[in-house]
Amino acid sequence: HNAKEFGLEWNRYTPTLQMHAKSRLDLENEMRIGIEREEFFIEYQPQVHLNSGLVVGMEALVRWNHPLKGLLAPGEFIPLAEESGLIVPLGDWVLRQACIQNKLWQTMGYTPMVISVNLSMRQFRQFQISEQIGHILTEIGMDPQYLELEITESMTFDKEAAFGQLKSLKKLGVAISIDDFGTGYSSLHYLKSLPIDRLKIDRSFVKEVMEDNNDAAIVSTIASMARHLKLKVTAEGVENHEQLEFLKLQDCHDAQGYLFSKPLSAMEFEDRFLSQQVS
Ligand code: C2E
Ligand code: MG
Ligand code: MG
Ligand code: MG
Repeated sequence: HNAKEFGLEWNRYTPTLQMHAKSRLDLENEMRIGIEREEFFIEYQPQVHLNSGLVVGMEALVRWNHPLKGLLAPGEFIPLAEESGLIVPLGDWVLRQACIQNKLWQTMGYTPMVISVNLSMRQFRQFQISEQIGHILTEIGMDPQYLELEITESMTFDKEAAFGQLKSLKKLGVAISIDDFGTGYSSLHYLKSLPIDRLKIDRSFVKEVMEDNNDAAIVSTIASMARHLKLKVTAEGVENHEQLEFLKLQDCHDAQGYLFSKPLSAMEFEDRFLSQQVS
């Protein structure tokens, strides 16, 4: 916080940073308009069950087709959306859109799959978040068991507040996973008491799991800890067969990564991963 305040103060006196602030404001306004104009869209990345090799789920990942800047990755606008609060309407749109698509696939007769949606801190902190999500699911007619919400470790920092929110979300019937696990500061004490279902091992550990003994030890430890805590584990960022074999040996349940597929448009996802299946 201090650094940010310092930054703001600095802005008043330096033209470059002032420009920086202006372009941030521009982007914020463009985002506001972009939500209305439906410039955002979702890509879906398959999640694969390692024992069976079957696609069992998908993660919804937002992108922005900016009228001038072209295609923007979430890293280029989510932080600003978080800061400005625009993540609330944007996140709401993503959740609704992702559930509509998932429900549509179910209606078309494809085997029902779980859809994972990333929740931001602001969304997670919202008053009556579970009621709001409940309304969306009822409206769409989607069974809550097919929705998984991804939060990060930092969101559980205020344990009491996080516990209350998580409990009400669990009561709704949705699943909760901890994204980017291992990069935050969650204590083992939190982990054992929070009502969560899954850990997603951050891809930074998976990346060099074959070259770096420390990364291998971390992945193996997270997987075994999760097993003992009766949590499911997903490995993120799996890019090659060697990593996959290692993860199978660690009894990792599911995996996600370029080895299986990059995030795809709804149409591509359907073609590649739904149409093929025998129902
Ligand atoms: P995340 O939730 O951890 O999502 C996984 C990211 O890893 C995605 O990046 C995905 O494209 C990328 N990825 C998947 N497999 C591989 C792989 O094998 N190798 C590599 N190098 N990368 C892989 P993406 O789509 O750029 O999203 C980045 C982050 O932005 C997400 O990380 C998530 O934290 C955030 N994000 C995306 N969509 C949303 C959203 O709708 N709401 C919120 N609040 N955050 C979102
Ligand atoms: Mg995620
Ligand atoms: Mg992640
Ligand atoms: Mg992330």
